[in-house]
Amino acid sequence: MTMPAYPLLIDALPEFAHELEELLTKQCELGLAAKVGDQRIVDRCRCGDDFCATFYTQPKPEVNYGPNHKCIELSSQEGMIILDIVDGKIMNIEVLFRDEIRDQLHAILP
Ligand SMILES: [Zn+2]
Repeated sequence: MTMPAYPLLIDALPEFAHELEELLTKQCELGLAAKVGDQRIVDRCRCGDDFCATFYTQPKPEVNYGPNHKCIELSSQEGMIILDIVDGKIMNIEVLFRDEIRDQLHAILP
C-alpha cells in the first residue's frame, strides 16, 4: 500500500504559505518559518463553521496534543492565524475569518 500524497501547502495555497513564512519571520520564529515549505495539507477542519479555514498539517491526534503542545498566534493583517505546535512540529494551522483561504481549501478537500 502506498501512502496518499498530501498536497504541499506551498503548492496548494502559495500566497498563504508566503504570508505564513513572513509572519513567522517577523515574530522571530525562524525555525518554524523554515518549515513552511515542507508542510502538507493532511485534512481540513470539518467543524462546518463558515468562518473556519483551519487545516491539519499532521494527522489529527487521537485524544489531544499532550503536554508539549503550544499555540503561536500570528499577527496577521486579516482574520486570525494560530499554529498548534508540538515539539517544534506544526500540527495544524487554525485560520479563521479568511474566506478566500476557506474557498481554496474546500476546492482542494471537498
Ligand atoms: Zn473548524
